[in-house]
Amino acid sequence: MLADYAVRVEQSRGRRIPEPQHPYRNDFQRDRDRVIHARAFRRLEAKTQVFTRPFSDHFRNRLTHTIEVAQIARTIATQLGLNVDLVEALALVHDVGHPPFGHAGEKALDAAMREHGYFFDHNLHALRIVEDFEVRYAQFRGLNLTFEVREGIIKHSRDYPADQFPELAEYLLDQRPPLEAQLIDLADEIAYDTADLDDGYEARLLTLEQIRGGIPVFDRFFREAEQAYPNVVEKLKFNEAVKRILDRMVGDLIRNLQNRIKTEGIRSLEDVRGWGQRLATFSPEVEEERRGAKEFLHEKLYFSAALDPEKNDAERVIRELFEFWMANPASLPLSYQEKAGLEPLPRVVCDYIAGMTDNFIYEQYAQYCGTNHHGRH
Ligand code: MG
Repeated sequence: MLADYAVRVEQSRGRRIPEPQHPYRNDFQRDRDRVIHARAFRRLEAKTQVFTRPFSDHFRNRLTHTIEVAQIARTIATQLGLNVDLVEALALVHDVGHPPFGHAGEKALDAAMREHGYFFDHNLHALRIVEDFEVRYAQFRGLNLTFEVREGIIKHSRDYPADQFPELAEYLLDQRPPLEAQLIDLADEIAYDTADLDDGYEARLLTLEQIRGGIPVFDRFFREAEQAYPNVVEKLKFNEAVKRILDRMVGDLIRNLQNRIKTEGIRSLEDVRGWGQRLATFSPEVEEERRGAKEFLHEKLYFSAALDPEKNDAERVIRELFEFWMANPASLPLSYQEKAGLEPLPRVVCDYIAGMTDNFIYEQYAQYCGTNHHGRH
């Protein structure tokens, strides 16, 4: 049962190239399946989430993170009567535009582009992947996704000002995205706030004492777990506390959004689109907890000195390879050399690097910038 404010697949603005209906899968289900069958989706398996080097097979990578986001987003969407097929497609596609090496890689690629007067943005890159780079179908280039999925790729995490991004004009930049897209950003944050505590603890970059001292809501849930399960090992109490944080954030988002829909009198998708701000938010209390947990993770994990060597590596590998191909475009694969005839070279080099997995970019680095040239690798 879809709510009045949900996206209805029958009212989709459709695909760039019209296609006949499938006998038993609707258009959003087909989009979800196209994402799963895309090469860029498979490459998520070998892209960093937080840790560049695999300390352990048990840490998240971008693929397992993506599956966690999809699972959380489906739960929320089901409770709110939103279009679960659209939500699933958006969750599964939300990180395909990320370059190798996680956020360090994104920063390095953006810095390399800015040297040449351009920039890198992972949402815009994701759109280029699904519109152009995935060559899989005989009838069209890209995945020929519906308007609503392409719109969600662009608008799920931030607003792009219409005057700065005229090329995105078709995506209704003056309007808010549907709730299906709005909740992806929050499901993403719920997934990584909790997962990064878990992986950070397993990696021994975060101690139990640090987490209990830095995140009051974790400390409260850990105490509850100690009382309920006094005889289990520490990690199981830890897991229990993380699970309760995740459950608290998901439940709060559902309740808060239900309340806002009711009090603001939201009755249709047009109401959602026309509203001044995004409606999908946590309550002020949980928002405060979220901000605290995020600050803690920034300070103690993402920007901890322990991760500096990996970040410096990521920065050096991307910068040197970028400059290598700028100076030696004939060393690019043939398909990219052809593109360089149609688009600025920095954009083509950026697209090539952004698509790489962590493993592949290290191989490329060894081949083109290895020991002989720079003596570091
Ligand atoms: Mg994500």
